Amino acid sequence: MGYYLLDNPNPHGPHYYETRRKPLRVVVIHITASVEDQDMRGGDESAEQTARYAATTERQVSWHAGADSDSWLPLLPASYTAWHVHGYNSLSWGLEISKRDVSWSDEPPAWVEATLTNAADACRPIVEKYGIPLRRLTRAQVDAGMSGFVYHSDLDPGRRFDPGDDFPIRRFFELMEEGDMPSAKEIAVECRKEIMGHPYPVWIKPNDDSHDELPLWQIIQQARAYAVLNHKRGTALQHALQQHDAGELDADELIEKFREVLADEVLDVDVTVKGEQA
Ligand SMILES: [Zn+2]
Repeated sequence: MGYYLLDNPNPHGPHYYETRRKPLRVVVIHITASVEDQDMRGGDESAEQTARYAATTERQVSWHAGADSDSWLPLLPASYTAWHVHGYNSLSWGLEISKRDVSWSDEPPAWVEATLTNAADACRPIVEKYGIPLRRLTRAQVDAGMSGFVYHSDLDPGRRFDPGDDFPIRRFFELMEEGDMPSAKEIAVECRKEIMGHPYPVWIKPNDDSHDELPLWQIIQQARAYAVLNHKRGTALQHALQQHDAGELDADELIEKFREVLADEVLDVDVTVKGEQA
């Protein structure tokens, strides 16, 4: 993999160190507060433009990766110390998301989803290689030696406000966990967990102890069991099954739909069994 700042050395630089004084254990989330491209038409060059800035500016700044709505771009290897946060560079990895302001909730949802997806793709290899937990830390927790994600604003309060108080970090973490499309096997494990974790008795008898070999028909059967519960998530699963029965979704699309439903926290509400009051 090429790294932008190594391939395009800054004539005023380098604005980074080629080593680390401390082990990498924290990801710092930033926004660039410069160019962004939210129209979702054509290419989005904002991460590339910001990388060019890092490769030409006299300011002593750098970061490890940049993400925009159609791509992400590695700037420096994780083993290098980038200069993106005051006082915490030696233990952190810096992510810069191409976004102009610190308010997320009023942005186009498709743009947010696309941008978070690329940001998650940028971080996933680091998370996996360095075993960084998907959780947000406070500055005190970073100081106490914990590992996770932290906002720039948390590490430099009063001076920095990025990525923004309403940065959708839960969705960001979900996307990082999802990665490539899950296999039917992974869906099966998730369905099983959902149903078995239910506080009421469930009448689907587990096949055996092996979650790994749960066949597709059994996933569907379990989803049906879930669907008869008086639960928004069940209703959504039921709807997907009806679409499947009507030939509108094939098996792969059904599985994909199940996964969406099971991952949707909006639907994650208290459960009551039909005909009973909790
Ligand atoms: Zn920042």
